[in-house]
Amino acid sequence: MTARVRFAPSPTGLLHIGGARTALYCHLYAKAKGGSFVLRIEDTDLERSKREYEVAMIEDLKWCGIENNEGPNKGGDFGPYRQSERTEIYTELAQQLVTEGKAYYCFLTDDELEKLTEKAQEEKKSPHFYHGKYRDLDPAEAKKKVDTGETHVIRFKNPGKKYTFTDLVRGEVTFPEDMVGDFVILRSNGMPVYNFCCVIDDWKMEMTHVLRAEEHLNNTVRQLMIYEAFGATPPEFAHCSLLVGEDRQKLSKRHGATSVVQYKDQHFLPQALMNYLCLLGWSHPEEKDIFTMDEITPIFDLSRFNKSPALYDIEKLKHFNGEHMRRLSTEDLMAYLAPTLAEDHAFHSQSREWQENCLDFFKEKINTPAELPEHLKVLFSTEPETGEAVDEVLSWESTAAIKEYIKGEVSNIDSAFISEKQFNEFTNHCKKELKIKGKFLFKGMRLAITGMAEGPDLKVVIPLTPIEVIKKRLGL
Ligand code: GLU
Repeated sequence: MTARVRFAPSPTGLLHIGGARTALYCHLYAKAKGGSFVLRIEDTDLERSKREYEVAMIEDLKWCGIENNEGPNKGGDFGPYRQSERTEIYTELAQQLVTEGKAYYCFLTDDELEKLTEKAQEEKKSPHFYHGKYRDLDPAEAKKKVDTGETHVIRFKNPGKKYTFTDLVRGEVTFPEDMVGDFVILRSNGMPVYNFCCVIDDWKMEMTHVLRAEEHLNNTVRQLMIYEAFGATPPEFAHCSLLVGEDRQKLSKRHGATSVVQYKDQHFLPQALMNYLCLLGWSHPEEKDIFTMDEITPIFDLSRFNKSPALYDIEKLKHFNGEHMRRLSTEDLMAYLAPTLAEDHAFHSQSREWQENCLDFFKEKINTPAELPEHLKVLFSTEPETGEAVDEVLSWESTAAIKEYIKGEVSNIDSAFISEKQFNEFTNHCKKELKIKGKFLFKGMRLAITGMAEGPDLKVVIPLTPIEVIKKRLGL
């Protein structure tokens, strides 16, 4: 059977990184098996669902490199792909269950429900204990009440037995018989509930696998009951481990950026985010940690999921970003980093060759574009650094001598940069003629030319620093 895997977000907000991870797994598995990856929009919560979130989600998925084969944006043989456009299908099938005696009309009012919940709590029973009041009402009588316009919902008649299934992440899972009661499948406003729509769609859209977050594990019991009522075969389920923050709590806004678009705005590489997310709950058969999605598609399988909660660590993500950034070609690196610098940054007025050499050197020092401007200060800043380290170097007599000598040399240079050769000559002069050695020489040179006490390799930095910057630093 061809694999059919769906990602079924509710468009009630921006695409969350947890959602992106689920989508990624679904996409990888469908591709690995040569199957279809389907996007289904679960928008039955009419108040909270917004079309603009759907549009934004599709855009964010695309940025992640996740493209669906079927969905509201693509069409397909199993549409419509928005649940709000499928209400007739759900209503008809809910009615079918009523006719077959597998579901029933329930007329409990909100007030009554509240009282029954209180009563159940007092008796230390689950709130659903009393939900079955209309379970055995004569169907003809129930129908009469419905026809006279009495407010009602449709409840599923829970067979009251144990349900067991084999989860691809968690192994065998058994739900006790009293875990849920007779649950609502169609609300009083005629809108079906998530568990019902989900089953109808996964069944009618011929899904072979449902990969989703662990928080849906407990929904599976209701869903299994519904499959059984229709005589339909459930898909294979894989409930992926929870993403947690450092405090081991479920990842939420409190933990920082949690929507994909925030990472896009902070100029993270999508391939780095996908690589990192992929490893939060799944592992590579050869324990590799840096890879592209294309590289792992052929080997992605469902046997390597990890059931313990996965710690989402932004510092690790930055490391992945750095690794992927350093894999970029010179051209791609330019296209990636240059636009992240402010429009009036002096970087932009340098030659293409200079820019390439510069990025080639600084890519080793940074993991994210946000770190680049600080590093480029060594090439452009004319504000001398202050602090103890600088004061110490300044306190050496030799530093004043180096500064004096360099000043004289630099004032005679009219090319745009000091070459590496010239720099070597300066160093040799200081060594031989001024008799300055070791840290006095190197730290003194650095301070004279860059205004800093510490920093990257001077041999690379000097030929990249515009002469007018050096002149300004030397007070020329
Ligand atoms: N609409 C549900 C959600 O966004 C999907 C659950 C499922 O995949 O079954 O969490």
